[in-house]
Amino acid sequence: MQSTRFGKPNQKEEPLSQVETQSLFKHFGEVKAVDGVDIVSSDEEFLVLLGPSGCGKTTLLRMIAGLEKPTSGDILIGGQVVTHLPPRARGIAMVFQSYALYPHMTIYKNIAFPLKAMGMAKDDMKKKVDWSASMLAIERLLQRKPRELSGGERQRVALARALVREPNVFLLDEPLSNLDAKLRTSAREELYRFQKDVSITTIYVTHDQVEAMGMGDRIAVMNAGKVRQLGTPDEVYSDPADMFVAGFLGSPPMNLIETPDRIVGFRPESFLPQQMHEGIGDLVSLPFTVTRIENLGADRLVYGKLEERFGHAAVIANLPTSFTSYAIETKQRYDFAVPRKDVKFFDPRTELRAEPIPL
Ligand code: ATP
Repeated sequence: MQSTRFGKPNQKEEPLSQVETQSLFKHFGEVKAVDGVDIVSSDEEFLVLLGPSGCGKTTLLRMIAGLEKPTSGDILIGGQVVTHLPPRARGIAMVFQSYALYPHMTIYKNIAFPLKAMGMAKDDMKKKVDWSASMLAIERLLQRKPRELSGGERQRVALARALVREPNVFLLDEPLSNLDAKLRTSAREELYRFQKDVSITTIYVTHDQVEAMGMGDRIAVMNAGKVRQLGTPDEVYSDPADMFVAGFLGSPPMNLIETPDRIVGFRPESFLPQQMHEGIGDLVSLPFTVTRIENLGADRLVYGKLEERFGHAAVIANLPTSFTSYAIETKQRYDFAVPRKDVKFFDPRTELRAEPIPL
């Protein structure tokens, strides 16, 4: 576990940084924080743990880091069982939401700290710090103190300090959540590029689906201690395994309509005026009466009710505002439709995906 891949491309065949959990449980008394999780990351992958507050993401990450002892189950890194190894023997580096920089130390000393703790010689240490600072383009900040840095710069320092240890795995717990919305967009882009540049397997915890969809190679969608689906952003969005995933992803989320045999789901952006689907092929026609229109700039959200056949279910359509030619008014009935391939069916009892029924 002590070997690293930097400058040693030959070692790449070994999945040094693959992370695996096997039947992993963590119970705090009655609370099943992590309730049987089996995930396997690929080597060098950006894997996101996504889910609502309290679903167990942080507990799962802390167990992988070695900061929390599992109730049962195993954790493997690079194919080796590390369940009982201390954090420092796992080849991981963790970045927390708070960054936890030492306020009285310069940025240089902050980044050098883990190397100093290892007893590294000064010259080697300087080379490593310079290298990691250049990877994150923070060379000019090295003599400053953390309070003299912006939130985005602090985030880069925290990453540089994690990188300098040449970990096989990065574990990141909501590292962008302290940044304002605008900075978060650029920080997301930066973090994504950085991860691709250094090619270190990264497990990233967030409750923000935009971060997950934008950065993840794959996303593990969690709820109540369980992974409900593990897939690429496109898979979890377009092909949700169950109603939780369908309802969690998307803003607004998937429309879910109760019928006697199935829950019928379709995304607001697939639910459009019939003529806008021209050339798409097989359509499911869903006439609806508009109750409210919300203009959000790029999108126009159109709220309304389906016909009696669907129990007058409330649904939302999402039309790009660039479709200016289509005037919509409240209290009017319109012929809307969804491409049949975009309609998903769920079993109302198990909430899992089910065979389609005729509509
Ligand atoms: P958030 O996004 O709010 O951080 P999370 O998905 O990371 O949530 P966890 O922090 O892993 O969730 O918590 C999962 C569950 O375990 C929650 O119900 C939480 O209250 C509980 N829990 C976490 N740590 C402890 C602890 N040390 N003692 C008791 N219960 C805990």
